[in-house]
Amino acid sequence: MSTDRNTADITHSELVKQGLQGITANILKCKLCQLNENATNKVIMRGSERPKVLFIGEAPGKSEDEAGIPFCGRAGKVLDGLIDYMDLEENEYAIINTVKCRPPNNRKPTQNELRTCRPFLLAQIELLGPDVIILLGNTAEQAFCVSSLNWGEAMITPEGKHLMKLYHPAALLYRRALMEEQKKMIDRNRDLWKKIQ
Ligand code: SF4
Repeated sequence: MSTDRNTADITHSELVKQGLQGITANILKCKLCQLNENATNKVIMRGSERPKVLFIGEAPGKSEDEAGIPFCGRAGKVLDGLIDYMDLEENEYAIINTVKCRPPNNRKPTQNELRTCRPFLLAQIELLGPDVIILLGNTAEQAFCVSSLNWGEAMITPEGKHLMKLYHPAALLYRRALMEEQKKMIDRNRDLWKKIQ
């Protein structure tokens, strides 16, 4: 049997056993979906390995693909501004995406691509162990398999985590009214992360 085992054979619980470094190694060698073909870099995560709050975005864009870092372009600046608004310290949050490779022309990942990359997403969530998960947009919601959340209304998962959907930062670019709405949603839910020690 080859030691370079196909990542398709690895379940999310096997990935969890390998730890965050093992997940990274598996993502780096992954060729399970067509998104791998045009990726300059795999985009894995940034932030704390023990976050209170985990943000899940859609997919890497051009800047992220070039740098290998999630949310480092224009939408990333918007997200950084929101993280400041939430009063989160550097060691209190982490950011990942539903898929780790950039879709061509920034299209949305397909259902098949989301499904193929999901073991990495679920293993990252389990190992990072956040108290609050913030899904940035509808694609993140689909990838997480949640049926239908209302914007800015938190729910509790069966694992006891607070889960909430906010607008994707790219949707807020140059849309002041939507940004104000997003800030109100944050204000209504501030206790979720501020009361956690
Ligand atoms: S998007 Fe995910 S499943 Fe597809 S090649 Fe990249 S790491 Fe593998």
